[in-house]
Amino acid sequence: MTYPRIVVDTEKIRNNTKIITSMCRELNIDVAGVTKGYCAYPEIVQAMIDGGVDYLADSRILNLKRLDRFQLPKMMIRLPMISEVEDIIRYSDISLNSEMDTVRALSQKAIRQNKIHKILLMIDLGDLREGYFYEEDLCKAIEIIKDLDGIELIGLGTNSMCFGGIIPENKTFKKFKTIKNLIENKFDLKMDFISGGNSSVLHLIMDNKTNEPEDLDIITNLRLGDSLLQGLETAYDIPIEGASDDAFILEAEIIEIKEKPSVPIGKIGRDAFGHVPTFEDKGNIKRIICGVGQQDMDLESLFPLDDNLIILGGSSDHLLIDGSRSDVEYRVGDIVKFSMGYVSMLRLMTSDYIHKVIK
Ligand SMILES: *Cc1c(COP(=O)(O)O)cnc(C)c1O
Repeated sequence: MTYPRIVVDTEKIRNNTKIITSMCRELNIDVAGVTKGYCAYPEIVQAMIDGGVDYLADSRILNLKRLDRFQLPKMMIRLPMISEVEDIIRYSDISLNSEMDTVRALSQKAIRQNKIHKILLMIDLGDLREGYFYEEDLCKAIEIIKDLDGIELIGLGTNSMCFGGIIPENKTFKKFKTIKNLIENKFDLKMDFISGGNSSVLHLIMDNKTNEPEDLDIITNLRLGDSLLQGLETAYDIPIEGASDDAFILEAEIIEIKEKPSVPIGKIGRDAFGHVPTFEDKGNIKRIICGVGQQDMDLESLFPLDDNLIILGGSSDHLLIDGSRSDVEYRVGDIVKFSMGYVSMLRLMTSDYIHKVIK
């Protein structure tokens, strides 16, 4: 056995995906399964496909290349770089855009590759990451796109809780609907593809019966990663009924166990990451060190399955745990298991130092 390792239960991901895609389908919303959280490992992609996603989506070309073997249409969900447009055309069917220099470059490459590349224009409804904020800029963009070959504008997209932390609400989509109607009327266009956002929109779908569903009815698509992988909606972290939050488990090996003080001895300077640490004096405690570190995971989103273990902190390749309250008689060489949130999953799946076991 090789440690540390991350064990992935694809059956749980298939089941999560099935529950969530069914929920969306009831509102005529299709789902793009976002694969960037796990570097598009094919067995996990297949679980999302078996669970019912309609598209595959990623933000990186390297991952889109890995998705090439799957039949479903692909979405590039980060704004393309002009330097990568050739690959964007080759490996994706739809991309999200907000810059006309980029769209012109896409158009040229699409013509050369003899393809029609579909685009969504991104609308910024307040989160202040990507997208058009002012309607007049959006209208100018559409004027330009009308004259470009190789490109088909199929709809609009938006995003939330990515930079500004803005929670999507019914009124967010009311505003989106106004913009969509304005464009359709002004340009005599059909915006058939309305991509309403990420896993933070799901709470509105779950609430649909009590909410005003007519505000959501413009959404035809969601781009979901976190919720399918972790079994929760991400605006309020509400678990989704029947879904699992432990499809990804980290297993790390204990390399030291010692009774030592809870407060370091001597003059306190900075830790391995440049922060000045503070400590609570709990006398002598049972300090357990595991052979995994912050290079490979995120301390805030890692949760020991043994509830009585307390994570004290870590350096790049050591994880320190207080084992004083646990009934388990841990020994050096034993394995400690952790469930995790999105950031730890992302780092663990990306790290070359973590052995991947995909079941
Ligand atoms: C990452 C990403 C998503 C998926 O977000 P989740 O919170 O994982 O559902 C959707 N859209 C865009 C543009 C993204 O970058």
